[in-house]
Amino acid sequence: MNSRSVLVTGAGGFIGGHLVGRLLQDGARVRAVDIKPLERWYQVHEQAENLEADLRLREACYGAADGIDDIYNLAADMGGMGFIEGNKAACMLSVLINTHMLDAARWCEAERFFYASSACVYAADKQSSPQVMPLREPDAYPAMPEDGYGWEKLFSERMCRHFTEDFGLETRIARYHNVYGPHGSFEGGREKAPAAICRKVAEAKLSGTHEIEVWGDGQQTRSFTFIDDCVEGTIRIMDSNVSEPLNVGSSELVTINELIDAVEEIAGVGVERRNDLGAPQGVRGRNSDNTLIRAALDWAPMIPLAEGLEPTYRWIHNQLVHRVVV
Ligand code: NAD
Repeated sequence: MNSRSVLVTGAGGFIGGHLVGRLLQDGARVRAVDIKPLERWYQVHEQAENLEADLRLREACYGAADGIDDIYNLAADMGGMGFIEGNKAACMLSVLINTHMLDAARWCEAERFFYASSACVYAADKQSSPQVMPLREPDAYPAMPEDGYGWEKLFSERMCRHFTEDFGLETRIARYHNVYGPHGSFEGGREKAPAAICRKVAEAKLSGTHEIEVWGDGQQTRSFTFIDDCVEGTIRIMDSNVSEPLNVGSSELVTINELIDAVEEIAGVGVERRNDLGAPQGVRGRNSDNTLIRAALDWAPMIPLAEGLEPTYRWIHNQLVHRVVV
């Protein structure tokens, strides 16, 4: 890793911010790019070259990629289920980022290109029961991904594959499964379930109302991947010789009710649950099958949910407390 020039796009976001920190620690020279003004980045690492740019634009991608060896392309207009169900066109416009970044990678003769794909590429009919069979990488086909966001991810995965086959660009793809941790969205509509539940429980505790709203009946299942596992998996995939997509997801399946139980335990508070059955819920069940990543990398995500939720809850709780005090 020493002295490699690395570009991280979406560096002002949740996963990008953590990835930049880890790459700097590993000795890389990092260029960090995001469309957001610097003061809204979740983490700003002073040792990185931090730039604001709209990577939907081809020229901006060429500028960002200039002189770079490795590209980690994480920029996307995305959020949790509440956002992606109501913003399908915006999610699909991330295809401009992915198209122009791949084109720029080819132009600057980057050695490697990493693409952050998603479990939302998996076919809906394989996720209709809470006791879902863990999703294996081939389960993305025949294609019936999450409308909007998932179609764009699947298309961009495919584009990576053809840039490899036709132009010889080394591409790597992770399918992230519901990543959570500190320094990410926890309010405003883009947050995902773990951050939303942590925030609601923390608010219920701080306000003394002791009641939260839960989207759906709480019996839907998911697996949640802690950010440290996500970053580790990302770097291992980038360093590997595997160009096929690999799951980066925890295989610890829980219901949303169990997720709330775990947060209550950490918060030291019990809350009443008001179920909103009309709220966006996504698929009924989703879990990650890690056979392929284990075989390819001799590694798979391993951080238990209860362990990862602890710092996540603490960080969100502190954000709220700080705001109340200020
Ligand atoms: P995030 O929203 O926190 O980060 C994405 C960043 O991309 C944001 O800071 C945003 O400002 C930036 N961005 C958006 N449009 C841009 C543009 N035109 N030019 C430059 N930057 C732009 O999301 P995240 O959770 O950190 O996700 C990172 C990547 O991982 C995304 O591609 C996402 O689709 C993928 N992913 C995330 C999860 C998850 O659970 N967090 C799951 C599956 C896939």
